Amino acid sequence: MRPSLIVLVLALALPLPGRAAYPDRPITLIVPFAAGGPTDVVARIVGESMSRTLGQQIVVENVAGAGGTTATTRAAQAAPDGYTLIMGHMGTHGAAPAMYPDLKYDPVKSFQPIGMAAGTPILIVAKKSFPAKDLREFVAYVKANSEKLNEANAGVGSVSYTTCAFLNSLLGAKPSRIVYRGTGPALNDLVSGQVDYMCDQIVNLVPQIQAGTIKAYAIAQAQRSPALPEVPTTKEGGLPEFQVTAWNAIFAPKGTPPDIVSKLSGALRKALADEGTRKRLLDLGADLSDTAAQTPEGLAKLVESEVARWNKVLKSAGATPK
Ligand code: ASP
Repeated sequence: MRPSLIVLVLALALPLPGRAAYPDRPITLIVPFAAGGPTDVVARIVGESMSRTLGQQIVVENVAGAGGTTATTRAAQAAPDGYTLIMGHMGTHGAAPAMYPDLKYDPVKSFQPIGMAAGTPILIVAKKSFPAKDLREFVAYVKANSEKLNEANAGVGSVSYTTCAFLNSLLGAKPSRIVYRGTGPALNDLVSGQVDYMCDQIVNLVPQIQAGTIKAYAIAQAQRSPALPEVPTTKEGGLPEFQVTAWNAIFAPKGTPPDIVSKLSGALRKALADEGTRKRLLDLGADLSDTAAQTPEGLAKLVESEVARWNKVLKSAGATPK
């Protein structure tokens, strides 16, 4: 090879001037809720494996507020350099536009999807002393007493808020809706009996259900979960209309360079193929079967359909702001 050609080949192989090879420093993964809840748990499990693949630490930063929309706005406005990501979910990137007419971001246009980290079935759970032994009794009790009950959720637009808004509308229930900075702290209050019931993502609930510190009335999907085989579906329990599932997924700000997107999405998919990481998620009831949504393109499609779906569900439930 001629010396000038060698120089050219070497030059093409080197990173662009001014941009060191990505990633050359820690990456921040914003969790838009308090630590210890489902979004946080998924972020930490997946982030650990991605850190190993990328050779840089993924640092989880919890920024709670406004049902996750405060942090999601911040992530949308961050520099699109691959160093600020967000673990969003069906609330922040699906339901929120229907609940906030002046939302400062667009789930579709403001983000570059990286991929879904976990599908998270929804359960109806209550404090241990709740006076109902199964879903039929729960439904009857809530219908008769809802004004005396406290329902816990992670704020307007969150998964727990929107799914329970749907449940409450099906039951004609009007409980006091108690807002927390995430369903981690909400679950603590459910365990101690300070609130009565909530709708939440399975990955937050399995250990407490197994320990018998809370009651699980139903899982709101067609099949029972292998992680909680004793919990009936809403269809089995007599409330087949209550079918909802949620998910958590990683997003980067719009404009993130394609080579960085592909590194991140490769690291995410590697995490979801890793036996140890899979086991931790599956033991918590996560659904990892939607491999299409684990890609940037698949997640983009999912977000679009979720925004449309939740807009319809929440409007017909009368749950959107008047
Ligand atoms: N899953 C919760 C929600 O949106 C929030 C959290 O992850 O803490 O209801």
